[in-house]
Amino acid sequence: MALLTMRHVPDPILRQQTRRITQIPANMKQYTDDMVETMHAEHGVGLAANQVGGLQKVAVIQLPEWDEPLILINPEIIRREGEREVEEGCLSIPGYRGMVKRSERVRVRALDLNGKMVRIKADGLLAQALEHETDHLNGVLYIDHLVSRESFWKITYEADPPEPTDDEATAEEAQESQQPQESQEPGESQEPGESQEPGESQEPGESQEPGESQEPGESQEPGETREESE
Ligand code: ZN
Repeated sequence: MALLTMRHVPDPILRQQTRRITQIPANMKQYTDDMVETMHAEHGVGLAANQVGGLQKVAVIQLPEWDEPLILINPEIIRREGEREVEEGCLSIPGYRGMVKRSERVRVRALDLNGKMVRIKADGLLAQALEHETDHLNGVLYIDHLVSRESFWKITYEADPPEPTDDEATAEEAQESQQPQESQEPGESQEPGESQEPGESQEPGESQEPGESQEPGESQEPGETREESE
C-alpha cells in the first residue's frame, strides 16, 4: 500500500468532472486500498479520486465506528429528502470548516469492487459523507453549499481551547503531551504563557505535587483521534 498525494484548493482537478468507470480495472483494489490508507493518514472519513489526482468515479468512506471502508464506484445520489445545516470540513481545504446545507436522508446507487450494484439508504454523518464525496466526483466542493458567506471559518488552536470533537486540535495536543517530560519544578510553566503554582491541580480532581512527573500515558493517543473531514 502507498500514500497518495493529496490535492488541495485551488488545484483545478478538484473542479473537474470525473469519468464513469465502464469496466473495473484489475488494479482497482490496489488503488482503493491506497485511497483508504491516505484517508486514514489524513484523519478523514471519506476521500474521492480527484482529491488524490485521479479522474475516475471512485470514492471511499469509513466512518469512525466502522471496521471496514465502503468502496463506491460510480456513486449516484438517486434520492434526497429533507434539509439540514451541518458543520463540514474537507481534506482538500485544510484548516477550514463551514456550515453547509445538506439533505437529511439520501439514497445512493453505486458499484462495489466486484462490479455488483449496491444501494445505500443513509442519514446522519453517512448521508453527509455520501453527498460530500459524490459532489467531489462532480467537481463540487462543500464551500459551494455554505449557508452564508460568513459561515466559513479558519480553525484556530491558540485562541480557543480545543473541543473534544475537534480532532485535529486534540491530536496536536496529544502529540505535545507525549513528549518525554522531565519532572516538573514548582512554578515552572506547564504550557507557554500558563504558569502553574506548586500544588495547583493539574486537571480537575487530580492534584499534582511539586516535582511529580507527568505521566505521558495519560494523554490521548494520536491514533485515536479522527477528523471528520471528507
Ligand atoms: Zn472533501
